[in-house]
Parts: sequence; structure tokens; C-alpha cells
Amino acid sequence: MEVVVVPCLYDNYTYLIINGKQAAVVDPSEAWPVMNIIDDRGLELSAVLCTHHHHDHIGGLADLLDEYGSLDVYGFFQDRTRIPLITKPLQDNESFSVCDLEATVMHTPGHTSTHVVFCVEDHLFVGDTLFGAGCGRLFEGTAEQMVHSLDRISACGSQCSVFFGHEYTELNLRFAAQVDPTNPAIGRRAARVADMRREDRPSAPSTLKEELETNPFLRIEDGAIIDQLKREERLESSGRVAVFAALREQRNNFS
Ligand SMILES: [Zn+2]
Repeated sequence: MEVVVVPCLYDNYTYLIINGKQAAVVDPSEAWPVMNIIDDRGLELSAVLCTHHHHDHIGGLADLLDEYGSLDVYGFFQDRTRIPLITKPLQDNESFSVCDLEATVMHTPGHTSTHVVFCVEDHLFVGDTLFGAGCGRLFEGTAEQMVHSLDRISACGSQCSVFFGHEYTELNLRFAAQVDPTNPAIGRRAARVADMRREDRPSAPSTLKEELETNPFLRIEDGAIIDQLKREERLESSGRVAVFAALREQRNNFS
């Protein structure tokens, strides 16, 4: 299995899953960058995987269907009204096969109420639930739901690679350094990511191991992070959801 990172729009990432000559696309923001790769490499596109309904993740879907005819379009069954082009509605935890590869879907509400993460072998396509050193904004879900969603992702195993929907990693790491200032892994990752971005290479994929070490939203039990929030008097309680909510609020105002 190979995954090609396809930069789209301003800072979106679409992904092409390739197995032999078969290909599937995750979150087609735009059709043309995907079509270029499919045509150049003589691939056969058979499926589209949609993590959520936001336009910057499905904007190229209709054009891909126009170009390639009948594609299997996978998404969460509760997203069918918002993504009417879904042909293969999936339930939480449902398994399916894409490009002859084993895949499962996980409902991860928080960014939207119907967001899902796709797990293809040990590759996690996390959309806007998790980012490099960050997580999605809570547009429709609660902090409690997002904590549960991130827990489900974290439980997938540190060897998993993480394919996220936007290139926000540098800014996220600057935020991580502020809220978790004594964590040496953040500075090391920031240096690696700065090198990649200077050469215009994507910081995706990361690994779950890297995220568990450097992503404050996966480190809400960390004493140093909790102490920092307490010092700034941002915490109402030291429960996990309260820590998450305080971090998310602080990140919303960080630039
Ligand atoms: Zn989104």
C-alpha cells in the first residue's frame, strides 16, 4: 500500500491510496490534482472516502464522479443528507474493503457531529479531527465528545501513521511549545517540520507516536500542561475534559 499526499486549495491535504493499479481518494478538495496523478500513473480510481461534509474536503467529488463514472463513495451514514453523493453509507466500526485493503471506520464527533476517521491497515485518515500537533475546532461537537474521539484514535496503536486534513503543524507546534514548555520532543519535531516546510514538503503523515509525544490535545493528563493552565488561571477543574476545553479555548485565540 502506498499513500500519495496531494496538496489542494490553500492548505488542505487530499490523499490517494494506491495498491497495484487500484486507487482510492480520501477527501477530494479538488478534482484536478487527483486526476493528474491518476492519469500520469495509469491508475484505476474506484472509491472515494469522505471524512466529513465540509466543502474543502468534498469540493472535487462531483467532478471526479463526472470524470470516472461510478465510484464507490464511502462516508458515515448520518452524513448522507449533507453528502448526498455517498453511495456506501457506513455505520460506526463497520469494516469494508478498499483497493483490496482492509478498512474500518470510526465515528469521531467533535469537529462535526458526523465526522469519521478511516483506518486502512495501520494508516489513519483523520480529516479535521486530529492535526499535526493539534486538533480540529469544535464546530458541532462538545469537548467531551472530542476527548472521546481522540481517545479512540490514540487507542489505534503508536505505530499508526496519521494523515490529517490541513497543514497547520508549524503553528500548532508553536502553540504546543507555549503550553508544554518543558517537553523536549516539541522542539525536536518543530526543527524537523521547519526543514520539511522550507523545502515545501508536507508535514503529513506523522505517526501516532509523534502525536502522543508532542500534541497537547493528546496529553491532557500531563502534569506540566495542567500546571501551565492553572498558573494562567484557565482551569475550572483538572478533569480531562476541562483540560481539553481550556487548551482548545487557548488555541482558538493563538496566532
Ligand atoms: Zn472541516
